Amino acid sequence: MSAISIAEHLRTYCKDVGLIQSDLFVAGEWRRALDAARFDVLDPADGTVLASVANASADDARTAIDAAHGALGAWSALTGHARGIVMRRWYDLIRQHAGDLAALISAEGGKPYAEAQGEVAYGASFVEWFAEEARRVDGDVLQSPRGDQRILVIRQPIGVCAAITPWNFPFAMITRKVAPALAAGCAIVVKPAEQTPLTALALAELARRAGVPAGVCNIVTADAQRSIEVGRVLTTDPRVHHVSFTGSTEVGRILLRQCASTVKKCAMELGGHAPFIVFDDADLDAAVAGALTGKYRNAGQACISPNRFFVQSGIYERFVAAVAEASTRLRVGRAFDDGVAIGPLIDSQALAKVQRHVDDATRQGATLAAGGKPVMGNFFEPTVLAGVTPAMQMFNEETFGPVIGIARFDTEEEVIAMANHAEYGLAGYLYTRDISRMWRVGEALEFGMLGINSSAISNEVAPFGGVKQSGMGREGSKYGIDEYLQMKYLCVGI
Ligand code: ADP
Repeated sequence: MSAISIAEHLRTYCKDVGLIQSDLFVAGEWRRALDAARFDVLDPADGTVLASVANASADDARTAIDAAHGALGAWSALTGHARGIVMRRWYDLIRQHAGDLAALISAEGGKPYAEAQGEVAYGASFVEWFAEEARRVDGDVLQSPRGDQRILVIRQPIGVCAAITPWNFPFAMITRKVAPALAAGCAIVVKPAEQTPLTALALAELARRAGVPAGVCNIVTADAQRSIEVGRVLTTDPRVHHVSFTGSTEVGRILLRQCASTVKKCAMELGGHAPFIVFDDADLDAAVAGALTGKYRNAGQACISPNRFFVQSGIYERFVAAVAEASTRLRVGRAFDDGVAIGPLIDSQALAKVQRHVDDATRQGATLAAGGKPVMGNFFEPTVLAGVTPAMQMFNEETFGPVIGIARFDTEEEVIAMANHAEYGLAGYLYTRDISRMWRVGEALEFGMLGINSSAISNEVAPFGGVKQSGMGREGSKYGIDEYLQMKYLCVGI
């Protein structure tokens, strides 16, 4: 472990200190909260205070909506091409400051620095993609059933939008929402997670430098308690027409209920409980590599993280042995230390949940093949459990930690039934070299996204989103901008 504090690392790695902001970004200005309240941002490794940030209230949220509402007309009146040029400048600045942004992600989220740089590249790709898509928002001319009418369909920005984002991808979850909103011609208010406001504020500073007009993108930071009141304003103010949320299913349900009062369009990217299925005919090395990268990314704190491993009997022992052996070689440590693969969990509650899942599994008969306990602070060893059964807690709740729990199965029918037995349907993974099986199982699994012989499924080109209680709407891809547009039908008499 490093003797240098994370705050010192932040100053070393984040060379442009102008990106380290701590006030609200509203109407193109840095502002204190109206009542001057602040809250602390903590280093997840040990809970030391990293920064103190403005704590927005309901009044601040309303002020941010005022700003977005005021900016909407001029921004939406620009051509898509003109908006794309501004967004492209924002993208270029993000790329130029990739190291600075990664430092902020690592400092407040604990993500290993190299992995944080990967998140910046991933998050930036949405800004680039939607800068390009801005000029491809087209309408339609439909054939009229009457000779004396013509039918046109145009697509217009939905209006003021709100985004509520999580801490586990504090950069990419914002760009994945803000970029399509801006491309479509909308203005937006973002409420980032209380654990990771600094990354969001740096992104706003770069938007300001890129020339995103005042009020088009506003950021209101708030602690856990005030996030609830800010969230209530964002989901009930009649001037907000779209709410995009990434987070837990439990909070998603609350926000959906709140949005119902003013009938807002919602995009919800909620919990996942991904199955990772390895058939006897799989390429073992590819399956092991996919399991490790899929599961240990961000210490297992990702909604598409494989959470239930099902391995067919013929390959089971070899898979368990290989995954366990590779897991013990991974280095656990602080985000800025060299060669670190696994950083801390976000807080002590997260650590307690992981420990609870491991203890429950071993108590019910699972065997530890690697790891199994905390290292220090909020760090947990990469852990492999064999002999897990669907009755255990880890197969019924997201673990959100570096734990690979493996169950054995025999038949295709059996594993499809077990995999689909979940209220969630975000991502799933399957490894097989049988092309018929790939189609059969691929079509039978009830998930919005499937990785087939690959666990690296996220990119700006593909539609990201879930089915069942994992949510609604798709982010990224050529479909992602549709969220932020509404159709208007023009019936023209001639
Ligand atoms: P996680 O379990 O990943 O922390 P949450 O769903 O609790 O996910 O939080 C995701 C985001 O939702 C964060 O920005 C958080 O502040 C916000 N949030 C949590 N509860 C509420 C709420 N009741 N109203 C509005 N926002 C909320």
